[in-house]
Amino acid sequence: MATTVYGPNNLSCSDAEWQVRTDLSAAYHLASLQGFNEASTNDFTATVPGEPGRYLVFSFGSAWDETTASSLLKVDKDGNVINGKGKCDTAGFVINRFLHEGRSRATAAVLHTHQTSSSALATLASEQFPKLHATNSYFQDEIVIDDECNGQYDAEVEGKRLSGLIGSSRVLVQRDHGPYVAAESVAMAWWYLYHLEKIANVAVAALGTGKQLHAAAQQEMQMGNEIRTKELAEANFEAAKRSLLKGPHSHFLL
Ligand SMILES: [Zn+2]
Repeated sequence: MATTVYGPNNLSCSDAEWQVRTDLSAAYHLASLQGFNEASTNDFTATVPGEPGRYLVFSFGSAWDETTASSLLKVDKDGNVINGKGKCDTAGFVINRFLHEGRSRATAAVLHTHQTSSSALATLASEQFPKLHATNSYFQDEIVIDDECNGQYDAEVEGKRLSGLIGSSRVLVQRDHGPYVAAESVAMAWWYLYHLEKIANVAVAALGTGKQLHAAAQQEMQMGNEIRTKELAEANFEAAKRSLLKGPHSHFLL
């Protein structure tokens, strides 16, 4: 059984909300450590337990590794700040919110980045995240590729379109805009975001050699199943939070 890292609740919020705050703050820090951020843009969001229509998101202009559990903003569906100091980046937030609301499975967390290998692989017209490595087995039926390149867009129109496109899958990768991961918990969302970049790293490196891929590398692999993946994701996330507590990112819990 994984140990949950709570820390002291620095706000007068429920323990359930504080738990989500610590998890979402940890995800910002872990993504920063992995170099998934593009300066201080992109949004990670989570729903507030027991408060429909309320979301947590970092304060616009903050570096990802400045985020703390207590500094996360609580906002309404339009990005208006209900609790916290700072401003919500409404355009990015609204797309995440539509994925929370419109995806056909419960969606407690949405993580969006422009992480390099996943974005690079998506730009290759002939590739659909090729199954080259055992880690790909966690992604069977989970990756939806969005071929529509909108450039400038209306966030509400785009959010509705993307929420319909992702359906029940957990990963949506836009050819021109990087990945969105939507999942039932921050831990599960982080699992898929982290491993998406890992399989993309392998694919980009293998394809970059220009040599022929081994046939066996593209066979279907059966390594993960839903229960096993959830267990792995939760244990992995708790371990990652413990690692954060040992180093310069320990303030994620404040
Ligand atoms: Zn973006």
